[in-house]
Amino acid sequence: MLNLKDPSLLRQQCFIDGEWRDADNAATITVTNPATGETLGTVPRMGALETARAIAAANAAWPAWRKKSARERSVILREWNDLMIENADDLALIMTAEQGKPLLESKGEIAYAASFIEWFAEEGKRIEGDTLQSPWADRRLVVTKEPIGVCAAITPWNFPAAMITRKAGPALAAGCPMVVKPAELTPFSALALAELAARAGMPKGVFSVVTGDSRAIGGEMTGNPLVRKLTFTGSTQVGRVLMEQCAPTIKKLSLELGGNAPFIVFDDADLDAAVEGAIGSKYRNAGQTCVCANRLYVQDGVYERFAEKLVAAVEKLKVGNGQDIGVTQGPLIEEKAVQKVEQHIADALSKGARLLTGGKRHALGHSFFQPTVIADVTSNMQVASEETFGPLAPLFRFDTEDDVIAMANDTEFGLAAYFYSRDIGRVWRVADALETGMVGVNTGLISTEVAPFGGVKQSGLGREGSRYGIDDYLVVKYICMAGM
Ligand code: ADP
Repeated sequence: MLNLKDPSLLRQQCFIDGEWRDADNAATITVTNPATGETLGTVPRMGALETARAIAAANAAWPAWRKKSARERSVILREWNDLMIENADDLALIMTAEQGKPLLESKGEIAYAASFIEWFAEEGKRIEGDTLQSPWADRRLVVTKEPIGVCAAITPWNFPAAMITRKAGPALAAGCPMVVKPAELTPFSALALAELAARAGMPKGVFSVVTGDSRAIGGEMTGNPLVRKLTFTGSTQVGRVLMEQCAPTIKKLSLELGGNAPFIVFDDADLDAAVEGAIGSKYRNAGQTCVCANRLYVQDGVYERFAEKLVAAVEKLKVGNGQDIGVTQGPLIEEKAVQKVEQHIADALSKGARLLTGGKRHALGHSFFQPTVIADVTSNMQVASEETFGPLAPLFRFDTEDDVIAMANDTEFGLAAYFYSRDIGRVWRVADALETGMVGVNTGLISTEVAPFGGVKQSGLGREGSRYGIDDYLVVKYICMAGM
């Protein structure tokens, strides 16, 4: 079992209205370690009724929470941040056990997760309104910003902690309570965060975590009129369903959905830097991030050399149990994920792609997969239009800047894009032309709490992190003061 310094961080109940609870019918979900298949424990299989209770508790907690000064809320958030940092080793162990990512990446995620709480603890103090120039001599026009109200969050398994804090940080700082439904595959990270929130002095009902049946919980979160806003990170397909379910009660929505990130290497790129960026962007979290490079476009003049260097770097990656020292790639989250990677490889090879390295399930069994590179990939292959969400780098070849921009934008998605070039004119042209919410120039890693994360097109709505991120949890009120 897990060797935690503080075993009480592994919670097997839900946190609702400040109390640890089981499902009404005592049903549970079993959580397993993807690297070993062993059972880690169980969490309650809750449904609509328990979710409605958490929402009601949040609504009851809202008036007192919003009345607190930004600084009072900040003190609690700051304490929550500090507790995450203090318990980072345990939180990372829990994360690696349920999610599979290497321990070093888990530790990195805990620091990243905490950074959103720290950032918004401060940002909450800077929510400012406006006074407008009045067109009337006897009136003053004022704009204030208010917390939107009870927020519901549905989060994915690929970043079990950070996708929660990136939502909870701005919501709580703005004065909104939040009910979170974590992914059923990685609930322990979420429950550990709830335990730390309680220890930090979070008032009851302000932050609840409900685990269980995603349709039943999602149905209540989207249908309940007390919920004023839904924030979701996950697939575009589920995002569409949730958006539809929110329509009858006209909820404000933040959606961080799928990506299909292009990663472009121009002839004038620093190839070693591009390889390093590609490794980070493609193989981090075994390729299971929504900003992972999904299509690597390499210009004719450097195509073979880049491919060679990339293969050499990929062959140095070490696959294994994320808990073991030196491992750089853990298992995929589940069997279904492996099948998708296999399907993309088979489809590409059947249409003429060349296998350069990897291509198969790893000898370790379970859901381990070999880091893979394929070349001569073309736009008629599945990898061109679908997110692989696995350790597969498909290399496309291109000729001109215009060609690659057209190919990069030829997708319904628009989350992140990356490109490598040292020509300053080209850097601006391409950065402007890419239809995505985020662009990495000469880097494969762009995420930070101080920058706005989010997409365009069918990659979603709204922004998370940064000073823009808090707007998603605020509503604007216009006050017209007459009778002077
Ligand atoms: P991923 O590709 O990350 O697995 P999903 O969109 O399937 O993306 O899942 C993201 C989150 O959405 C998870 O917490 C999952 O339980 C939840 N989810 C999936 N289907 C639904 C649904 N119909 N209603 C509400 N939540 C859902």
